[in-house]
Amino acid sequence: MKGQFPVEKFQTLHTPFYYYDTELLRQTLQTINAEASRHEGYHVHYAIKANANPKLLRIIREAGLGADCVSGGEIEASLRAGFPSRKIVFAGVGKSDWEISLGLQRDIFCFNVESIPELEVIDELARQQGKVARVAFRLNPNVGAHTHANITTGLAENKFGIAMGDMLTVIGRARQLPNIKVVGLHFHIGSQILDMSDFEALCNRINELQSDLERHRIRVEHINVGGGLGIDYDHPNRVPVPNFRDYFDTYARCLRLRPDQTLHFELGRAVVAQCGSLITRTLFIKQGAVKQFAIVDAGFTDLIRPALYQAYHKIENITSDLPKATYDVVGPICESTDVFAKQIDLNQTRRGDLLAIRSAGAYGEIMASQYNCRQLPASFTSDEL
Ligand SMILES: *Cc1c(COP(=O)(O)O)cnc(C)c1O
Repeated sequence: MKGQFPVEKFQTLHTPFYYYDTELLRQTLQTINAEASRHEGYHVHYAIKANANPKLLRIIREAGLGADCVSGGEIEASLRAGFPSRKIVFAGVGKSDWEISLGLQRDIFCFNVESIPELEVIDELARQQGKVARVAFRLNPNVGAHTHANITTGLAENKFGIAMGDMLTVIGRARQLPNIKVVGLHFHIGSQILDMSDFEALCNRINELQSDLERHRIRVEHINVGGGLGIDYDHPNRVPVPNFRDYFDTYARCLRLRPDQTLHFELGRAVVAQCGSLITRTLFIKQGAVKQFAIVDAGFTDLIRPALYQAYHKIENITSDLPKATYDVVGPICESTDVFAKQIDLNQTRRGDLLAIRSAGAYGEIMASQYNCRQLPASFTSDEL
């Protein structure tokens, strides 16, 4: 056992694989519940898209969180994991008819709707089933988030949401549709947000909008502010649990909820990122013309974030105590972007050494592909090993 990893056990397993520290996951969930319950009417959903591993979903469901889904497949995964229908929300800019019908059949809590054409289709499908669909409108608050351009979603130029100025038109249309009930307003400004002033800006927008709507005597049951709370990729050991207190307190301080209005959150990354590591074996050390490469058996098919968004993941050699040396850590895939890190210091690394790519529990395993006819990575939890 080195650090928090059962290295001896790892030696017997086929690499690469994901390793999930379920104790840390439970501790994170406890913190979320403790911090959210300090505020009246706060409900936390888990954004399934961050990681749909059934072993993790079960633990998250046991902690009492709801499920935020962005596809029919995710609705099915959350139902299989035992999430109750009344705690499932369904978002997404392009919902297929079968996905909407599934949500209707299961009487999910809410559809987060992004356009009038979508609203009309939901009304029609609900009519066919003799149901009334509960919907929230996803609004584009035109709030920038200080995060990577590819994961900001709340700007006017992004494809997501309904423009704030169209709000009254859309609500007007909804009121003409007999199989639609408007129950909420939904927002989501981006991901990996660490600057609380971004969430403050969102709150200010929502306050303005609610005042506007009230002038037209419109009030909804709930506000859903999405997710986006970031984690510390630089220091997975020092900051294993994100600052949920600060996060919820920001909303409590800045958002003016109406009496009886509930506030919903959809956290993905902040729930699962730190509990996961991708464990990979060093195949070769290759001395290039200008640098030294550690070539490992994991590639971007297992963890695509570095290739997709130049994301940083801390990497540790968990089987070497030798002095540090500098490496580019690269995978075997036939693409130049198959690089996990450039010019990082690792304990001197040899063929066969195991590396842990940290903070990989969110948007890791779930984004794996079979490019190059590779196998999907296996997964193990600390409970199992
Ligand atoms: C991706 C997404 C989330 C979760 O985002 P995180 O940054 O992982 O917390 C929540 N809500 C919606 C609508 C999303 O698309």
